[in-house]
Amino acid sequence: MRVVVCGGAGYIGSHMVRKLIEAGHTPVIFDNMSTGHQWALAEAFKGAEAKNIQPVVVSGDVLNMADLENLFEKNQADAVMHFSARSLVSESVQKPDLYYHGILVGSLNLLAAANRARVDKFIFSSTAAVYGTPDQTPIEENCPARPITPYGHATRMVEMILEDYAQAQGLKSVALRYFNAAGADPDGGLGEDHTPETHLIPNVLKAILGQTPPLEIFGNDYPTPDGTCIRDYVYVGDVAQAHLLALNYLNSQPEPGFSAFNIGSGKGFSVLEVMAAAERVTGQWVPYAFAHRRQGDPPVLVASAEKAKKTLGWNPEIPSLDEIIRTAWRWFSRRAQPS
Ligand code: UDP
Repeated sequence: MRVVVCGGAGYIGSHMVRKLIEAGHTPVIFDNMSTGHQWALAEAFKGAEAKNIQPVVVSGDVLNMADLENLFEKNQADAVMHFSARSLVSESVQKPDLYYHGILVGSLNLLAAANRARVDKFIFSSTAAVYGTPDQTPIEENCPARPITPYGHATRMVEMILEDYAQAQGLKSVALRYFNAAGADPDGGLGEDHTPETHLIPNVLKAILGQTPPLEIFGNDYPTPDGTCIRDYVYVGDVAQAHLLALNYLNSQPEPGFSAFNIGSGKGFSVLEVMAAAERVTGQWVPYAFAHRRQGDPPVLVASAEKAKKTLGWNPEIPSLDEIIRTAWRWFSRRAQPS
């Protein structure tokens, strides 16, 4: 299949590109390179030649309809995977316009262009933030979606749009609600590189490496056993694998429709537990200081991923937090060495 990967040069997107190539598909990357990296594409393409696959890279922005028209005019596509959106909860509270505009207009444009090109399969990068502060954990997909931030609201709205487009446009779509994607490709080459970095595991490891000031722990007065927030960390390669399975699932669907799946490990770890795991893996202390709560952070987000396991056949390859951190540690410590 030829699969358009919007945001294919980013952290999760580049793992996806590699995964598609491994599975024998041709990725058509569409990226404005605002947060993506050329090196990530070069790395993701490494196995392509041996498989006689020629990946395509199209430079463009989902907010520019002409760029999207050009993408689909020049490239036949069977499916679209949409990774290109901002995804920082706290930033969305401060800059809601940026998030509503980017997520809603970007997705509407992409859906319109895909529809015009008669592409009827769409996989959307959704988020645990659609649940807001859930009443119970682990969270199942039928728990009420009551987002508490602009990022969560806008992403949930795109899910609702996808649901409506099944009827109106014959769209077959899946939303994968990621919990906390983390880790790096165990063979090296692909990993996380955000500027500024806001995610916990990279920040813990960078604090150990002395690349940043001591880790700030955002709040220790949450209603959790140790007072710090609990999250569900899921290996980035397993997130990419879920998309591949979602693609197979959409191929097997005779009728238009929309489904949402949680993508998480089903286990929750507090910030202090993540630090302890990092200390186990690296054998080094994490320098840290307690700081104020960050805006928009719910106390606990832990997935039930049973639906993805049953329906998609998803079976995480690296389910253990220590192993996920080990892959990330290899990535960050290697990059810390002078080349
Ligand atoms: N966190 C923290 N210090 C950091 C980064 C994150 O204490 O430098 C906390 C954050 O408040 C949240 C958890 O770690 O409770 C996971 O945050 P992250 O940004 O990695 O992912 P999110 O859950 O926001 O998607």
